[in-house]
Amino acid sequence: MQEYQPSEILLIKNGELALKGLNRRTFEEALMSNLRYRLRHYGDFLIRRAQSTIYIEPKNDYADMEGACDAVSRVFGIAAYSRARVTVKDIEAIKEAAVAYLGDQLATAKTFKVEAKRADKAFPYTSPEISREVGGYVLSHYHHLKVDVHNPEVLIMVEVRDFGAYIHAQQLPGAGGMPVGTGGKAAIMISGGIDSPVAAYMMAKRGIQLTGIHFASPPYTSERAEQKVISLMEKVGRYAGNMKLHIVPFTRIQEEIQKHCPEEYFTIIMRRFMMRLAQRVARDADCGALITGESLGQVASQTIPAMAVVDTLAKIPVFRPLIGMDKEEIVVISRKIDTFELSIQPYEDCCTVFTPRHPNTRPKLRLVEEAESVLDVDALVEEALTGIRTLQV
Ligand code: ATP
Ligand code: MG
Repeated sequence: MQEYQPSEILLIKNGELALKGLNRRTFEEALMSNLRYRLRHYGDFLIRRAQSTIYIEPKNDYADMEGACDAVSRVFGIAAYSRARVTVKDIEAIKEAAVAYLGDQLATAKTFKVEAKRADKAFPYTSPEISREVGGYVLSHYHHLKVDVHNPEVLIMVEVRDFGAYIHAQQLPGAGGMPVGTGGKAAIMISGGIDSPVAAYMMAKRGIQLTGIHFASPPYTSERAEQKVISLMEKVGRYAGNMKLHIVPFTRIQEEIQKHCPEEYFTIIMRRFMMRLAQRVARDADCGALITGESLGQVASQTIPAMAVVDTLAKIPVFRPLIGMDKEEIVVISRKIDTFELSIQPYEDCCTVFTPRHPNTRPKLRLVEEAESVLDVDALVEEALTGIRTLQV
């Protein structure tokens, strides 16, 4: 039986620079396994690597190449990728394939350039010879075209490699970063706001596999607020992969704080409870760090003294990837990852329900601890932990 020959494949170039500190094999294997998983709904693909390139080849005619390309554009660890036409390693076949494959673009462009790479040194034409041959053939078909080596409208790339010859246009930029999983696991504290989904995206980009933690305060917060968080995680999951979401019941803790603690410390004491609980969830979920969407000075609880009073409880690192960013910069990313429109839907969050009128922006640890001491902290934490619901998003 003759092996199936796909006419079109995807070529993936991973970030060479990113490979520096990290074992290349680990990086590539993680990337290939992530690609396999992300492409599972788009058809049957053979995914293999050779010469620092990963090949994604459909195994039959039923693959959705459009969908596969779209999915690949959101996989971390990819510097650039291209959709390429496959031909046999024969100069005549290459010329014809170039004109057939990129004909639409060539017909409307004014300038072009051919760039050839011969990785298979047994091929009888050198790279400059391939460029000249293909360029000449294109010119003989499209009399209006001119060669422009500096700023061509259409770039024709010809790569002669081990498994065949490939023709493609300009590479597309990949999602960058590191393959998810190579950076370990961390828990993202996710609200329904603009910031935390962006923080999640940024850390996933550094190769972290995420688990979500959300504090809900029914009936002050609604079912729809929770659904909004799930939708946000799904959006982030298009980059970060599937993840678990732990929903922690927070009503009783907030009511107790409100009943027994001075109003100026509501938020800070609440955040200390979040820290205690999040760490326990993180530990049980095998996560080595916490992630928040805090940005310095954005609200009362995001000052240095406030963060210090919360972080004294932290036994694992707390990552705040947005700490030095302006809101506008955060919004740009949230639009890019398509979470912005969801985030601005007006559902109440547990933080907004109990917001004090005059929060203390320079809390002192001793005074906060004193204010907190009227509560049975351990019992409240244990009670909340028993009520956690875990969903797969
Ligand atoms: P966001 O836009 O992410 O809601 P924010 O600017 O509104 O952030 P805060 O409400 O003070 O700021 O929350 C700061 C961070 O605390 C959030 O980015 C998130 O990481 C965490 N956080 C806040 N509320 C919750 C919640 N209900 N569940 C889980 N984490 C939360
Ligand atoms: Mg918020």
